[in-house]
Amino acid sequence: MIKINDLSALTQTQKEGVKNAVARVVDSGWVVLGPEVRHFESAFADYLGARHCAGVANGTDAIELALKALGVAVGDRVATVANAGMYTSAAVLAIGAEPVFMDVDLDSRNVALPEVRRVIALGVKAVVATHLYGLAVAEIEAIAQLCAQHGVALLEDCAQAHGAIVSGRRVGTFGDAASFSFYPTKNLGALGDGGAVVTQRADVAERVGHLRQYGWTAKYQVSLPGGRNSRLDEMQAAILMVFLPHLDAANARRRQIAARYGASIHHPDVQLPMDAGESSVAHLYVLRSARREALRAHLQAQGISSDVHYPIPDHRQPVFGDRYAGLRLENTERLAAEILTLPCYAEMRDEDVARVVAAVNGWRA
Ligand SMILES: *Cc1c(COP(=O)(O)O)cnc(C)c1O
Repeated sequence: MIKINDLSALTQTQKEGVKNAVARVVDSGWVVLGPEVRHFESAFADYLGARHCAGVANGTDAIELALKALGVAVGDRVATVANAGMYTSAAVLAIGAEPVFMDVDLDSRNVALPEVRRVIALGVKAVVATHLYGLAVAEIEAIAQLCAQHGVALLEDCAQAHGAIVSGRRVGTFGDAASFSFYPTKNLGALGDGGAVVTQRADVAERVGHLRQYGWTAKYQVSLPGGRNSRLDEMQAAILMVFLPHLDAANARRRQIAARYGASIHHPDVQLPMDAGESSVAHLYVLRSARREALRAHLQAQGISSDVHYPIPDHRQPVFGDRYAGLRLENTERLAAEILTLPCYAEMRDEDVARVVAAVNGWRA
């Protein structure tokens, strides 16, 4: 079976480094928010070209704490896309704020400028731009300018796009803040949960630093409302330091696999994603087919795993009841019905890539 992801193959590539990192933390006797976390925060900020990085417990917390640090509070409206797995919406709901949904572009599957303009006119407090499937939002620079002009905070969700470059800069450096997840299967993953808020703004970094520890401004002194316990532990930070130097090479390998699919898959019932060069880190290879379920069953029979990222658009999630029943997001809804994710990860072998290509091309629809 060709898996959609292979965590043991990834760990195997850095086995010695991971063992040494874990042993170092065990011997140090310091396990939460210590020197390893600080070291990783500074290395990751340097890698991105950002000023500040604060490690937190996971990517969803990173969204929640970043939004709070940007001033989002109970009752505020926050704009997000509805095709990115509900993570941002869950964070917005956790704050007691209200999601306002933006449709995406059918080809890039990302948000574009007109939708941002539309929601700014609706009075949102913040916009979350998600760089989905590893592809940088092409207009992120213009979106940042537009938000700044209107005093609307911009958060970039980079949980699928560690290292993607657009307009000569890495994603996560355009908005007021950016959220990252280090869930094991992300382009940069820990061996457990982890996340970070990255920002160019010292005030935002300072507030996230307080919010991730109960709202403490000093030990046992709570000054900020909305504080949580959301810390990155030393073990995960040490492991992330092992994987970080290999991130660009791993991203290049993912791009190579995506390019191979792009050049080799030919099927009248399959539409391939755009080839975006450096502005994509190929987190997920997501094609479209009007007969998605039949293709999925065919691949399964050929021993190839596939998945759907994501089957239920946020505004159709049961948690909302009929709150968004009147809302149509044409592209988002169409994509949810047609998208299919093929295996694409750095450790994937060439012969497995070839098998996936042959299986798709051999599908008799
Ligand atoms: C994975 C992911 C998150 C959430 O990260 P967790 O660490 O799982 O909480 C947020 N946004 C996007 C786009 C993601 O892919």
